[in-house]
Amino acid sequence: SREWHLVSRPHGWPVPADFALRETPVAEPAEGRVLVRNLHFSVDPYMRGRMNEVKSYIPPFALDHPMDGGAVGEVVASNAEGFAVGDHVLHGLGWREYAEVPAQHATKVDPELAPLSTYLGVLGMTGLTAYAGLFDVASFKEGDAVFVSGAAGAVGSQVGQMAKLKGASRVIGSAGSDEKVKWLVEELGFDAAFNYKNGPVKDQLREAAPDGIDVYFDNVGGDHLEAAISSLNVHGRATICGMIAQYNDTEPVPGPRNMAMIIGKRLRLQGVLVGDHYGMQQQFVQEVGGWLRSGELKYGETFVEGIENGVDGFLGLLRGENTGKMIVSLTR
Ligand code: NDP
Repeated sequence: SREWHLVSRPHGWPVPADFALRETPVAEPAEGRVLVRNLHFSVDPYMRGRMNEVKSYIPPFALDHPMDGGAVGEVVASNAEGFAVGDHVLHGLGWREYAEVPAQHATKVDPELAPLSTYLGVLGMTGLTAYAGLFDVASFKEGDAVFVSGAAGAVGSQVGQMAKLKGASRVIGSAGSDEKVKWLVEELGFDAAFNYKNGPVKDQLREAAPDGIDVYFDNVGGDHLEAAISSLNVHGRATICGMIAQYNDTEPVPGPRNMAMIIGKRLRLQGVLVGDHYGMQQQFVQEVGGWLRSGELKYGETFVEGIENGVDGFLGLLRGENTGKMIVSLTR
């Protein structure tokens, strides 16, 4: 079985030499464990943070050990009660072809109900992040005008559509290519979208939301956050979900220059960590499952095929090569 190891800590943008694809023997599962053949694994922006040797909400990847992360696969041997060969499971040991997973860390998923890959995206971690970040953290209410950055990504594409489904007055998204902008407006039903590479975010946001915004869902940070603070209306709320614009920076970046506006407008900026919100999981799956079945909620997936292309998939995610969820597939 092959697995990806981190072999050196990236300084700035990760390079292929920071990683190695290594062989490891596959053993029968120990007591209480199952052996899973991974079919899809997730590559996510937060993994960049885990490549640094810093104290955070999640420990760094260890050098010369397999990296981990969300994955779905098929049980090929079981030494745990309740799991049989042929079951499909969601678990946390991605970045490898075969995973020996403790049964208590494996969740059965049904490929008949939804394609397996969706348990990593729209029905999984990124979908829940959008749902909890919008409805719980940002206290979204009907009639709000919502701006989301990283709007064509896994989280962002769901935030915008969920806001529309719950009666947003206007939904605006920003993304890094004209094709993505077209997808947001023509396929996902955003009211407006812009390519942040085509001009200052502040000006483009002002034009797209002349009456201001009530909610900002931040996936990007930097100039996007500053522009949003300028456009937020009185009592506006921002969910600070990610700041991908700075994950590869080597120096701390200055904050928004217009923070004083937070006072006069009585803004609330609040961070979100999806791990706090698994209590909403049942409600989330029920509501989002319904929207998916009715066709009201759409999702994108970008697949990179083959374990040997796992790191390329991750680097491609950081460069914006994905529309919707970026997934590494091991199905061929
Ligand atoms: P995405 O699917 O959104 O993929 C990342 C996207 O970021 C790329 O497609 C790219 O799109 C965009 N991007 C890359 N660099 C920049 C840049 N400099 N400026 C603007 N956009 C950039 O990933 P996810 O949906 O998984 O995650 C989105 C955000 O949410 C991330 O910041 C992530 O860290 C965060 N997150 C936070 C969680 C939490 O619990 N707090 C949980 C899950 C995700 P483009 O072409 O538009 O540039």
